[in-house]
Amino acid sequence: MAGFRSLARQVRDPGCDTALRRYSLRKCLERFAPYGHRATWDHLCRRHRFGPEDRELDPQRLVAALDELEEARAVWLAYEERFAARRRREKHEGLRGLGALDDWHRRVWGGNGVVRCGDPAVHPSDPLPEVLRRLITALERGPGEECPVCGGPRIEWAGLGPACGDCGVGVPRAVLTTGALTRARRPLAPAA
Ligand SMILES: [Zn+2]
Repeated sequence: MAGFRSLARQVRDPGCDTALRRYSLRKCLERFAPYGHRATWDHLCRRHRFGPEDRELDPQRLVAALDELEEARAVWLAYEERFAARRRREKHEGLRGLGALDDWHRRVWGGNGVVRCGDPAVHPSDPLPEVLRRLITALERGPGEECPVCGGPRIEWAGLGPACGDCGVGVPRAVLTTGALTRARRPLAPAA
């Protein structure tokens, strides 16, 4: 199975057919897709203005989308390295890890679905590296009341966990206070 880097080389290769370059970009999302595969693809298509059926596609748009994805991946992998180093240090000092946070990191290790969007068409429109920097700030700062990505107050329960009612991202429990989680679980009051 090709890794992210060799797929990225194909996306940039002017000798490759445009359809193959687009396919390779899509395959990159099997390695790294912060919103999940479909929502991250939707984000890149919209932000860089290309569609799955776009026959006159300018390959530079694919390259620009890859640039964005690669930068986001670098931001996330650097954070994971810091996190792993911290855990090693803490283990060495005999401190126990934070179970829930460690479990979450294991599930999303490598950057897949760190802020998974339940609806592939509803996700933030900001650049991915910026979104990940905001998430990382929240993870390093500790639990808060609001969405770590857009700062919105509407944290709701969606499927298996909390999600932002404004920008659509699934919010890792580790960045929410117990109070915010309790409020999210409560059914919405009927509108007056
Ligand atoms: Zn949000």
